[in-house]
Amino acid sequence: MRFTHATLAQRVVFAPGSSPEAVADEVSALGARRAMLIASGRAASAAEPIAARLPLVLRHEEVVMHVPVEVAERARAAARTAEADVVVTVGGGSTTGLGKAVALTTGLPIVAVPTTYAGSEATDVWGLTAGGTKTTGVDGRVLPRSIVYDAMLLTSLPAELAVASGLNALAHCVDAMWGPRVDPIDQALAGEGIRALAAGLPRVARDGALEGVEQTLYGAYVAAVAFASAGSGLHHKICHVLGGMFDLPHAQTHAVVLPHVLAFNVPHAPDAEARIAAAFGAETAVAGLAALRSAVDAPRRLADFGMPEGGIAEAVPPILAAVPGNNPTPVTEENLTALLRAAWEGAPS
Ligand code: NAD
Repeated sequence: MRFTHATLAQRVVFAPGSSPEAVADEVSALGARRAMLIASGRAASAAEPIAARLPLVLRHEEVVMHVPVEVAERARAAARTAEADVVVTVGGGSTTGLGKAVALTTGLPIVAVPTTYAGSEATDVWGLTAGGTKTTGVDGRVLPRSIVYDAMLLTSLPAELAVASGLNALAHCVDAMWGPRVDPIDQALAGEGIRALAAGLPRVARDGALEGVEQTLYGAYVAAVAFASAGSGLHHKICHVLGGMFDLPHAQTHAVVLPHVLAFNVPHAPDAEARIAAAFGAETAVAGLAALRSAVDAPRRLADFGMPEGGIAEAVPPILAAVPGNNPTPVTEENLTALLRAAWEGAPS
């Protein structure tokens, strides 16, 4: 056993129902006195009580998925003009992503309050979009200094979005099993993430109960930590290309593609197969995921989210160019085309 595992330095606070107090404490511990709050208008009800306890100098509401550079530039300029010394984000991955874009050029610390299961808050990965092309990078400045997880804020997520977002988190676990830098610590975390998500997500889908949301949120955090360390595997390369090319919704794209990548890789990944199956408490990894997807009524077809049929052939070359060399199953034009077609038409995996 020979590996190097880097642990990202970050405070993580689970505070159901107490995010205003917890965020104020984290901001104060950073010695910050001039807070920029990033939260879209739709997140106002979560953001207001947090804002009320902050030394606020700026409210920024312009949040756009995949962080267009011009949106990032406006947020950076606003932060400079207001002389902010900390960025507080309240929202999903798009909001956290804008905070990261500000931190990338200003070096301001971030306190992140996530309201979805996307997991961006636990990674040092940033993403920006220019002219329809998304660029990502890794930079320690964008890793939030603190995360405040308040499960109460996620009880307002509509079930359909909660399910897709939870399956996005599950994809972090599955893809971490064979990510380019995977190590046994990542695999242990990914297994624990699968266990927690499989326990929590059916409850979230059924009645949105707080305990289910808490389990799912914990699973989403562990998933993101595993993924940040292991790096993007085949699943994320596919979703990244499809999302950028056809402007597909992030969480739903992950939710649809995941079973197809799992079925594609497990025949050549016996260790991952055993770990994933055990984490689901199922006989096989594929059966475990299928049971969860059926329990939560997971989305099934990329065609439903606006991907054109002709996009299958268009997406193959850029995905092939990005596939990590260590992917368990060798990826060819033929088997990748079959995988994408199955995800496009919603064939059983
Ligand atoms: P999102 O942030 O765009 O949110 C999706 C929708 O849900 C939005 O309309 C938002 O207003 C709404 N919403 C969010 N929280 C809500 C709540 N609690 N109640 C009701 N509505 C709510 O989507 P996302 O899936 O969270 O994030 C996707 C983005 O995050 C993508 O750009 C993706 O690339 C990025 N991401 C980055 C990383 C990383 O490590 N850098 C990891 C995961 C995702």
